[in-house]
Amino acid sequence: MAEIEKNLAAVRKRIFAAAQRVGRNSAEISLVAVSKKKPLADIMAAHAAGQKIFGENYLQDAREKIQQCPKKLCWHFIGHVQTNKARQVAEFFDMVETVDRLKLARALDKYAGQFQRRLDVLVQVNIGREPQKSGVLPEDAPDLLTGITSLPNLRLRGIMAMPPFSSNPEDSRPYFRRTGKLAVELNAGGLFGTLERVELSMGMSGDYEIAIEEGATMVRVGTALFGARL
Ligand SMILES: *Cc1c(COP(=O)(O)O)cnc(C)c1O
Repeated sequence: MAEIEKNLAAVRKRIFAAAQRVGRNSAEISLVAVSKKKPLADIMAAHAAGQKIFGENYLQDAREKIQQCPKKLCWHFIGHVQTNKARQVAEFFDMVETVDRLKLARALDKYAGQFQRRLDVLVQVNIGREPQKSGVLPEDAPDLLTGITSLPNLRLRGIMAMPPFSSNPEDSRPYFRRTGKLAVELNAGGLFGTLERVELSMGMSGDYEIAIEEGATMVRVGTALFGARL
């Protein structure tokens, strides 16, 4: 079996096992294959093995791959979005996981409208309150969610968070737990409107199993599928 196919099978198995450990149905967990800096051939190999959702951080690189891709895949933007890049992001991506300010949300909404698309979005929360990181602070999330809900071409689907970097994946657990609690609180406050299922995008190669134990519905895995990036 080719490497990527093997890695995918291993990650899926671990997702299943992590869900089982906490009595969750693994069917409610989506795997976002983070293909940043990886060639289209790797994406096609993963797609041939059944992978549908791909995550990219670098707009220029992603755009070329998306335009060359012979299949209709589902693309998530997971990097910081500069407002002047909102037009391209709205044109090429199906979901933006990193909406962290109303100005960006309004720009994405405007361009999604022009392209006659509905764009799925997650609000990125700076759950570790790290000054160097993007994301809205938890206490500012309600205002941003309210603002997004009023935009006709965006579909608010949930929140995304990245805990502070640590070499020990267990260090991420309290941040994942806090993110899950925040989502529950926001939902209880009616801030997701009539949304049936609030998505929680959290967990990467090093800690996605812990994220699943803490309620993640989307995990963003790169290295464990495609190998180390240069
Ligand atoms: C790169 C990246 C990932 C994937 O990281 P890996 O450790 O390679 O799995 C996930 N989320 C975001 C936001 C990233 O930038």
